[in-house]
Amino acid sequence: MTATSRACNSPTLRVLDIIPGTSVDGPGLRTSIYFAGCAHRCPGCHNPQSWDFTAGNEMSINEIVEEVDRHGFNVTFSGGDPLYQLPALIPLAKALREKGYTIWCYTGFRYEEAISIPEAWSLLENIEVLVDGPYIESAKDSSLLFRGSSNQRLIDIASTSPGNIHPWHTSF
Ligand code: SF4
Repeated sequence: MTATSRACNSPTLRVLDIIPGTSVDGPGLRTSIYFAGCAHRCPGCHNPQSWDFTAGNEMSINEIVEEVDRHGFNVTFSGGDPLYQLPALIPLAKALREKGYTIWCYTGFRYEEAISIPEAWSLLENIEVLVDGPYIESAKDSSLLFRGSSNQRLIDIASTSPGNIHPWHTSF
């Protein structure tokens, strides 16, 4: 299954939860948006309930932006895997960027897989950091910052191009 095959053309997004003030999904306090649906089915996934594409509630882009505005924190897209909802995720990301928010995005796809989805470029141009790759239980490392297994990368999208991955650097 590909991300595009799961995507729908609805302007709404299927959202499991929106949590303001998190500190584990990127630097500073952030509003994490958990999107429903994931087909990666990583053994040891922390939240298998998020795999269900029909879980949670439909929310419009405006409703999500209003919720983000209510708290004013930068934003993290998580899930599930947000990339399964690209047609509505892209305009959401653009709307948030236009308001000045930075966006981190988690995905179970590796960067090299994600960029093979043509629409993904429109998302990436609005993303600061992509946390990529599936969770791999044998590579679990609880000392890692903002990710669960060592195969996952914090990719600085602005300085990354295909074949030239630049990690996000932190002073934490
Ligand atoms: S990509 Fe994330 S949500 Fe999906 S199965 Fe893997 S760990 Fe779970």
